[in-house]
Amino acid sequence: MSYKGSCLCGSVCYEISEDIISFQYCYCSRCRRSTGSAHASNLIIAPDQFQWTKGSNLVGRFEPKDAKHFATGFCKNCGSNLPWLTQSGQAMIIPAGTLDESFNNTPERNIFWGNKAPWYQLPTTLDTFESVPGKSDACRLDD
Ligand SMILES: [Zn+2]
Ligand SMILES: [Zn+2]
Repeated sequence: MSYKGSCLCGSVCYEISEDIISFQYCYCSRCRRSTGSAHASNLIIAPDQFQWTKGSNLVGRFEPKDAKHFATGFCKNCGSNLPWLTQSGQAMIIPAGTLDESFNNTPERNIFWGNKAPWYQLPTTLDTFESVPGKSDACRLDD
């Protein structure tokens, strides 16, 4: 059993085993900046449970100078976040949003909660719509 993932343009694909060490939301400032979102949604797996299956030559990497473990991975064509190896080399970090829909594990914890953005609100406290509100023929954001 394995799970597949890819970037937005489909140039880069990867595969992981189902052997997942942890699944967490991270609210640290590095994750907020690199994802552009309130938190990263990351799986942590052993490096030997991961492989690129397409486009590994298009995978970019960035290592902040002051970071011991943190790095980023991204597609050089479309800019999507992609999995990255920690600088220690001990773990592979998988952005869960890049996985196919067959992945349905749920996260078990929030980390760096104290660093969350001041504007962050729990999703369950917000008005919620099946698509964009107010238009019957609204273009879907995921089209
Ligand atoms: Zn891409
Ligand atoms: Zn983080």
